[in-house]
Amino acid sequence: MDEVLLKITGKCLSLEEIAYETYRYIAGNSLDKNIGDFFGNMAAEEAEHIEFWKGVHSLVSSGAIEDIIDNEYELLEDVSRTVEVAEGLRVQLKNANDNRRVFILAFYLETYIMRPSFGIIFQFVKNISPIKNPIDTYQIHLEKFISQFKRQNIEDIELTSIANIIFQLYSENLQLSRISYIDTLSGLLNRRGLFSSLYTVAHILSRKNRPAGLMMFDIDNFKKANDEYGHQIGDQIISSVGTIIKSCIRNSDIAGRFGGEEFVVLLPDIREDMVRTLAENIREKVKSEFSKRFPITVSGGCAFAERIANPQEDINKLIKKADENLYISKREGKDRITFI
Ligand code: GH3
Ligand code: MG
Ligand code: MG
Repeated sequence: MDEVLLKITGKCLSLEEIAYETYRYIAGNSLDKNIGDFFGNMAAEEAEHIEFWKGVHSLVSSGAIEDIIDNEYELLEDVSRTVEVAEGLRVQLKNANDNRRVFILAFYLETYIMRPSFGIIFQFVKNISPIKNPIDTYQIHLEKFISQFKRQNIEDIELTSIANIIFQLYSENLQLSRISYIDTLSGLLNRRGLFSSLYTVAHILSRKNRPAGLMMFDIDNFKKANDEYGHQIGDQIISSVGTIIKSCIRNSDIAGRFGGEEFVVLLPDIREDMVRTLAENIREKVKSEFSKRFPITVSGGCAFAERIANPQEDINKLIKKADENLYISKREGKDRITFI
């Protein structure tokens, strides 16, 4: 288990709890109805963030998530300091009697999450878990703060511009964290994102004793396609195959670009016979999609495990088996799926 990450997520949970409790207090004690309503709404959103961090915390403590942040110790120190500051802010906020001060302090409390590493945590958890994720709503949460500044006539150029800068940084951070896990060409996970997600999901499956299937695809004669149509078209082909794969699988499946023109999909909780059906679907869809323009096909190899016992080892076995089957598909003439 990743002890440091566990502490980090614990601190994040504390921060959200401080924000929740503080906003509830302001909502209940504000003489201004608008401000009271605003903080009431913000508190409700904090309650969702609390649920999110609780979910992440339990994923980390079960050992399902580890080693996803490069600078763990630095982040832990940073977040610990933020919790101390937030504790101080809570006291100041409760005693603040002018609105401007309330908003500045509250906004300060909000911005702890702007660190790039949080983008990575959000993005990572989004890939592997259906927990409702602030990545989708945090931007709106912040926008509400900024527009509330204006509504309260806190037309302070300094404050508004700081708010805007922070907001922009946050958006860019999210974009960066996306890039670190997502392959921009295919829109699927890149190799790094793929492997960490595969192991994490395998971990969750192993605790529940659940099965998993794995498919591997490789575009046929891709070198020739590149030579004939050029690399740009080659790139478009990779991108379209990524889109087709995504359109055929569930949100909870893990799909990534394994190498140049090779793709891997993990299918958690699937029936064995469905693995082949799905792989055949994808093969046929690629073939018919491209037949209008040029003949592009994929070969596939599948593997299945009745249950995952050792996450890392079993994933590696599934990949090896699917790869062997893919090799057979190539040897026997391509444009086919092997699952033996
Ligand atoms: P096979 O049917 O046996 O798979 O033959 P192949 O030509 O597809 O296989 P091979 O592995 O020999 O060639 C893969 C080619 O994919 C080589 C490389 O130039 C090309 N490739 C790898 N990554 C990219 C990419 O990102 N864009 C483009 N356009 N081509 C790529
Ligand atoms: Mg190929
Ligand atoms: Mg290849």
